Amino acid sequence: MAPFSMEFSGKPNGHFEDHDLYSHDDADDEFEHHHFNNDSDDDLSKSYNSTHFSTTEDRFIKDHDLKVKTFEALHSNHQNGNSVQEGFHVGQPSSPVATPIKRRQSIIDLPQTHHSTSHYRPLPSIAPQNNSSAQNPSANVHAMPEEYPSEELIELYENVKFCLDLRHKYLGASLQIDEMVNPKNKEGWIIYPPPPKPTYKSKNKFNQLPDAVYEAEEEFDFEKCKIPGPQEGYEFRLNAEDVYQVFDKTTGKPLVEVPNLHDYYADLNSIIKFSSDGPTKSFAFKRLQYLEAKWNMYSLLNDFEENKKSKRNPHRDFYNVRKVDTHIHHSACMNQKHLLRFIKYKLKTSPDEQVIFRDGKILTLDEVFKSLKLTAYDLSIDTLDMHAHTDSFHRFDKFNLKYNPIGESRLREIFLKTDNYINGRYLAELTKQVFDDLEGSKYQMTELRISIYGRNIDEWDKLAAWIVDNKLFSHNTRWLIQVPRLYDLYKKNGNVKNFNDILKNLFQPLYEVTLNPQSHPKLHVFLQRVIGFDSVDDESKPERPLQSKRYPVAGQWDIATNPPYSYYLYYLYANMTPLNRLRERLNFNTFVLRPHCGEAGDPEHLISAFLTSHSISHGILLRKIPFIQYLYYLDQIGLAMSPLSNNALFLTYDKNPFHNFFKKGLNVSLSTDDPLQFSYTKEPLIEEYSVAAQIYKLSGVDMCELAYNSVRQSGWEASIKKHWLGKKYYLGGIAGHDIEKTNVPDIRVSYREDTLKSELQLVDFYTNLKIKE
Ligand SMILES: [Zn+2]
Repeated sequence: MAPFSMEFSGKPNGHFEDHDLYSHDDADDEFEHHHFNNDSDDDLSKSYNSTHFSTTEDRFIKDHDLKVKTFEALHSNHQNGNSVQEGFHVGQPSSPVATPIKRRQSIIDLPQTHHSTSHYRPLPSIAPQNNSSAQNPSANVHAMPEEYPSEELIELYENVKFCLDLRHKYLGASLQIDEMVNPKNKEGWIIYPPPPKPTYKSKNKFNQLPDAVYEAEEEFDFEKCKIPGPQEGYEFRLNAEDVYQVFDKTTGKPLVEVPNLHDYYADLNSIIKFSSDGPTKSFAFKRLQYLEAKWNMYSLLNDFEENKKSKRNPHRDFYNVRKVDTHIHHSACMNQKHLLRFIKYKLKTSPDEQVIFRDGKILTLDEVFKSLKLTAYDLSIDTLDMHAHTDSFHRFDKFNLKYNPIGESRLREIFLKTDNYINGRYLAELTKQVFDDLEGSKYQMTELRISIYGRNIDEWDKLAAWIVDNKLFSHNTRWLIQVPRLYDLYKKNGNVKNFNDILKNLFQPLYEVTLNPQSHPKLHVFLQRVIGFDSVDDESKPERPLQSKRYPVAGQWDIATNPPYSYYLYYLYANMTPLNRLRERLNFNTFVLRPHCGEAGDPEHLISAFLTSHSISHGILLRKIPFIQYLYYLDQIGLAMSPLSNNALFLTYDKNPFHNFFKKGLNVSLSTDDPLQFSYTKEPLIEEYSVAAQIYKLSGVDMCELAYNSVRQSGWEASIKKHWLGKKYYLGGIAGHDIEKTNVPDIRVSYREDTLKSELQLVDFYTNLKIKE
């Protein structure tokens, strides 16, 4: 029984007619007025204006009001139709006297029959009759495609399908769609050193653990790694587009067709055109509003039930479900206090160690601090000055300087670089301490981003040697490679002649090591722990306007100007695609693209990522482009969001769309970005969850769902994800769900699944109408 149905049953049913949530005229109006001007950030959820409350209070009251309205609206809708789905409540009739709502029949939802029979495809002319006779005679009052759907509506859905198909083409070519295609997710993939054994296996029938027999964990030993020999059957070279291509020597054919630069920009432009088209925008906006309203309805009616289910679930709670920090930078992965302690410790224990080469001489740590006129005693968080809270808002340049302890690039060089005079030994020690903390917490994992700049062809080997020699392997950590978009800088300094030089430095070693692992043995071992690539830098930097037809290929990009975001993404994508194909054939793990995207700057970045990338970090600008947001929803593209980081840099916490996205059902997870700059505690990820829980009033179930999302978005091997989420997690939805592992009740999972399915079925339904004609 719906817990709140009693409370509302006394209210007159007709009173909301004026404010009917689905009255499209209303929504249109509101949409026109608030339409995505740059200052207003919560236009998507604004349903009326209130001037008397502060933003937070206002939002809270609005939220509540919306819930009540939704409840009432759907409530009397459902008196005429049967929409109670199995497993969770969507509505309960409260009074036998029904007052049908006066509204235009529209695409709220498909009737129930569509959920069960996917072959059900009524012709437009018979659709309503079919619908009414299908399950219950009164169903024609609501929730049905229009009797004769307008050409316009069909076209809108065709646009949606066109965009989704494009994305699938790009992702399919680069093996980023189905994670089970990746050899590391297949049966028999060996993780060395092996992950620790689950300790709760040996419970006896009284639920007690016998005296635990802990096996000592195996330590990483490079000698024990098997390095395969050279592969003769393939060769790689640059094609006319300055993209690496792999050829099968026997057939002489390339392994995969990669869309060329021109096609890519043509595809990009066609999506941009849809996205800026007025009717398409309002269409997507309404679908998104509907998703939010549906969530409000669901959460209103199922709160209690959800809590009951998770209480009944033994052992699991928020603290012992696995959560992955899906977006965190390695050089900022420790908190400030940790770094401070480490610097003091080094200054006390090894002041005479030679650490840096500056101005023609080698300096010891002591000398460095003398030159700064500082002693160990003077050092505090305040002198370190690495927190970014008040002075860095909309100043990414200032934020970048925050990476320098005490504002001194010398200290960054000594303590936070892998490739320095001491070969990154200090950073390795710090990293190990971070690993120890993580392993101690057991349930927290990080996907650390570490830089390859592309200035020099040795960078990969140096990085791999740093990882392998310092044994930086942890069961709680995997790596992503971040590529800073700094061509203009390297060009100015004379490091590179043209853009293609960067790509060569980035990808040539990867092709070499794939064809012959023995040519770079340490890189081969390191790559087994690498998930994919990231593209980083200040997105708010101005870019050349998109005169895409005139963009030269990488080898001819030798001007001083930095290429635009979309250009960087294309070349990362295009070079990664044949590499993935080759690695898949040779049974090595493949990579995905997970760039920083939509944090600031041009919202069109999000469209480039839509075409090329597995998932993204940030995505807060999706709030300004509803059509693209709707596409991100439909394809469940992962968003690793960091509201605390945004709060310091680009968007204040109360305006962050994180919670709004979560309600609509976008695939969001929480991540820390830079604990060094933003966190106060020893457990930055928990801090991130905790602040979100307080501000947005997230329930325990919400928190567990976010943790569940983070594991699904992450790049851990399937054998480990099975242990964390359940044996069949890869099936997704309710079929792959195991509450004992995730602590998310089944009703929540099936609500998300059914909602998504019915949106996708609408796409199918309308696009098939056209075909039948
Ligand atoms: Zn970041």
